[in-house]
Amino acid sequence: MNFLEGEILQGQRALVTGGSSGIGAAVCRALGKAGARVVVNYLSSKEEGEQVVADIEAAGGQAMAIQADVSKEDDVKRMFAQMIEAWGSIDILVANAGMQWDGPFHEMSLKQWNKVLDVNLTGQFLCAREAVIEFNRRGIDSDLSCAAGKIICMSSVHDIIPWAGHVNYATSKGGVLMFMQSLAQEVAHNKIRVNAISPGAIKTPINRAAWETPEAEAELLKLIPYERVGNPEDIGRAAVWLASDASDYMTGTTSYIDGGMTLYPGFREGG
Ligand code: NAD
Repeated sequence: MNFLEGEILQGQRALVTGGSSGIGAAVCRALGKAGARVVVNYLSSKEEGEQVVADIEAAGGQAMAIQADVSKEDDVKRMFAQMIEAWGSIDILVANAGMQWDGPFHEMSLKQWNKVLDVNLTGQFLCAREAVIEFNRRGIDSDLSCAAGKIICMSSVHDIIPWAGHVNYATSKGGVLMFMQSLAQEVAHNKIRVNAISPGAIKTPINRAAWETPEAEAELLKLIPYERVGNPEDIGRAAVWLASDASDYMTGTTSYIDGGMTLYPGFREGG
C-alpha cells in the first residue's frame, strides 16, 4: 500500500483553511485519502467547498464544508466550535488560506496592505491559536498520533525570495516564517509540532496569469531548475507526510517544494 494513502492518518481530524480550491483542495483530498476526516473551509463558494467534500466522500473518506473568513476572529472561533461539536476535537490544522493583491509599492493603499496581512498572517494566528487551545486541552491520544497536534502553515518561496510588486504578499509570508518558528519553539514541550510548506510555482487560480499561456509558462520555467510547474498534488503529498507520525521528530522547519526555485537558478550559467 502507498503509505500516504489508507491508514497513515486514520481517525485523525483535519481542518484545511481555503480548502475549496487550488492547493487547499488538493491537501484536503490527500488527507482524506490518507484516512483523515477533513473540514474543508471555504470563504464564499459553498459549491466549491461541497465539491471537495464530494470528492473526498467518493474516494471513501469523510468530510464537511464550513464557511469562515480566517481574518475574522468570530468566524474562526465559530468554525472551530462547529468542528469540535461535530467530531470532538482537531488533530491537524493546515493554515492554507491566502491571497494576493499586487501593485507598485508607491500606489499601494493601506487597505491593500492590511487586507493581505489580515488574511495571510493574522488568519494563521487566529486559526493556530484555536488549534493550540484545543490540542492543549485534549493532550496526546496515543491511539491516533504520538503528537498532541500538528500545524502546517502554508507559506511561499517568497518568505525568503524578495518580490517586487508584491511587497504586501512577501511581507506576509516572511511573517509566516517567523510566526511558525516562534510558535514551534513555544509549544514543542506540549508535543505540538508546527511546520511550514513553502510552495514554488504551483498551477492554481492565484497565479493563473503566470502559467496560462505557453509564453508565460516558458518565462516561468526559467526560474525552475526542475523544469516543470508544480501541481497542487505535489503539495498535498507533502502535507500528508508532515501531518503524520512519519515526520514526528520534525518541528519548526520549512519544506521548500519548489522544483529548485530557491536555488538561485540565475547562477546555473552565471556567477
Ligand atoms: P487559491 O486562490 O486557489 O487558494 C486560496 C484560497 O484561500 C481560496 O480558496 C480562497 O477562497 C481562500 N481565502 C482567501 N481569503 C480567505 C479568507 N479571508 N478566509 C478564508 N479563506 C480565504 O490559490 P492557492 O495557490 O491554492 O493558494 C493557497 C496557498 O498557497 C496560499 O496561502 C498561497 O499564498 C500559497 N502559495 C501558492 C503558490 C502557488 O504557486 N499557487 C505558491 C506559494 C504559496
